[in-house]
Amino acid sequence: MSVRVLVVEDEPAVRRLLAYNLRAAGFEVIEAHDGEEALQLLEELPPDLLILDWMLPGLSGIELCRRLRRRTATAHLPVIMLTARVEERDRLRGLETGADDYVTKPFSPAELVARVRAVLRRLRPAVAGELLTFADLRMDLAGHRVHRGKREIALSPTEFRLLRHLLENPHRVFDRSQLLDRVWGIDADVELRTVDATIRRLRRALNAGGEPDLVRTVRGAGYALDLPEPAATGGLSERASEVP
Ligand code: CA
Repeated sequence: MSVRVLVVEDEPAVRRLLAYNLRAAGFEVIEAHDGEEALQLLEELPPDLLILDWMLPGLSGIELCRRLRRRTATAHLPVIMLTARVEERDRLRGLETGADDYVTKPFSPAELVARVRAVLRRLRPAVAGELLTFADLRMDLAGHRVHRGKREIALSPTEFRLLRHLLENPHRVFDRSQLLDRVWGIDADVELRTVDATIRRLRRALNAGGEPDLVRTVRGAGYALDLPEPAATGGLSERASEVP
């Protein structure tokens, strides 16, 4: 559930330096050595942010960035462009490639990590934020703590990841296989009903103080984090049931 950064850079030493420092800063890093490989990875493992070298063999960074901006799925993907010299950087700005920020080589790893965080804060506040909130629910990512109002809630690591995913995407309905992929991981050997069981435990923990249920069951479709509808509060409602 970490923030995934795709690094596109043909120079192995620079790519390794970037990957090493981003991983040390807590990011998940995937690497591509040219534009073609980047396009493939963008499909297979959609990143939260792209670090793109301007000078690449074949498809240039500028052209790749332009293509991404034309595609619906990547039109708003945060992109930081790497350039070799200040003059190039100035030229890039003039070219209006659609990049969100530019970093000039040689760069300090600390500066680059700071720029990544700044761009994420600006463009993906839910991803970069240390604090996720919904209604009276509060998740402190740095401290790994969850509160409902003033009550602290103890969650297992899986329940925590599940709640985090829902908090990052409020009101969106996810079916069980989507939750399996995103919370347990694609490779996890887990059955779909494990999702229901985890949702059940999460609900119990969240509502232990008798609060309204924020986890909505959408019959036949999945689960979402939502404010309870007035009609659904009290009594036996479908909110308490699982996806059939
Ligand atoms: Ca290069």
